Amino acid sequence: MMRILLIGGGHTHVVALRRLASMKPAGLDIHLVSPEPSTSYSGLLPGHIAGHWPRTALEIPLHPLCHTSGTILHTTRATALDPSARIAGLDNGRELAFDYASLDIGAIAAVDAPEGLAAVGIPVKPLGPFADQWSAFVSSVEASASPPCAAVIGAGTAGVELALSMKYRLDSLGQSNPPRVALIERGKVLLPGGNSSMRGQLEKELKRAGVTVSKGEPVADADGTCVRLASGMSVPASFVALATGARPQSWLAGTGLALHDGFVSVGPTLQSISHPHVFACGDTAHLTFSPRPKAGVFAVRQGAVLAEQIVRLAANRPLSEYSPQTDYLKLVSLGRRRAIAEKWGISLNLPGMWALKRHIDFDFMKGARD
Ligand SMILES: Cc1cc2nc3c(=O)[nH]c(=O)nc-3n(C[C@H](O)[C@H](O)[C@H](O)COP(=O)(O)OP(=O)(O)OC[C@H]3O[C@@H](n4cnc5c(N)ncnc54)[C@H](O)[C@@H]3O)c2cc1C
Repeated sequence: MMRILLIGGGHTHVVALRRLASMKPAGLDIHLVSPEPSTSYSGLLPGHIAGHWPRTALEIPLHPLCHTSGTILHTTRATALDPSARIAGLDNGRELAFDYASLDIGAIAAVDAPEGLAAVGIPVKPLGPFADQWSAFVSSVEASASPPCAAVIGAGTAGVELALSMKYRLDSLGQSNPPRVALIERGKVLLPGGNSSMRGQLEKELKRAGVTVSKGEPVADADGTCVRLASGMSVPASFVALATGARPQSWLAGTGLALHDGFVSVGPTLQSISHPHVFACGDTAHLTFSPRPKAGVFAVRQGAVLAEQIVRLAANRPLSEYSPQTDYLKLVSLGRRRAIAEKWGISLNLPGMWALKRHIDFDFMKGARD
């Protein structure tokens, strides 16, 4: 039997397991390592933060997927990988040998922040703990134990979506104390590197929602009641979300795999360029042949590719080559039941976009859970 070790229950491995369940390749002994028995889907997080659906809506249980694909689930995290010896070290003290391994452990939020901010800020990744902390904060506001003041640090797409969602939720609590949400970006513009039409529309939406935007100034400190900017300006915030970009997990640096900025460098077959019996996908991978931003759409698309590679390995056939899409439909939710769509540099803020986003996200969840 060929042992395939899937490390991480990210979007790619979820889709790959679904595919493998229907393809049923023979001769495989598949194992999945995941710290939790479920994984969270990011497309539905902003809607949950805004209060449109419960926490359970984000969760993809891994047991049923493992059951239908004949995979053994190890509920622990990987802490080491020796690609030459083909052994992974697990947090529960066990070691798992493999013939081929695939890494889909996502990315973590960058927390290269001042000490005070790092201590009180809540990284948006992993998504589950972030959602739990937000729920606890909302309960505390409802009980009048915390003021309805929050800040989001980092104004990339995720930061803007979260700031709008948080403001919508706090407004909907109907507290006499008016909610305040600040979006703080150290760069001079929102969506650094993003599309200018989308940026303009989101700026209008932030204004409409009453989210305070601060640009061009880094955070100097934070203490759980406020965030202080470098200029000395103080922003009240009892809940601080860190949406400061994606960083690789630090243990990858000790694996000996070829890395790019800490992410695993892969070629078009999704194999590591240094150790071909290790695959990497989703946010964990750096596509050397065609670099792409860290986005769930690429992770999802790679699921079918990875499943196909596993089937080919089992049949001793040559692997296929993956070509990522050059552009993709971005749907950014606006807190209220609206979304802006963007593709090919054109952005549209129309009522139907929210329904479209909802349809795409819930359709993905249905497929992942069936
Ligand atoms: C607020 C927000 C909204 C977003 N919205 C969108 C969107 O609308 N569209 C879009 O395309 N992208 C979106 N993204 C980006 C998207 O979340 C990521 O690109 C996507 O989750 C990457 O998927 P992945 O498969 O790489 O890993 P992830 O989905 O991050 O999953 C990684 C998994 O690995 C597990 N894991 C972690 N460490 C270990 C370990 N050591 N051992 C074993 N398992 C481990 C984790 O528990 C997790 O289940 C959003 C991000 C955020 C923060």
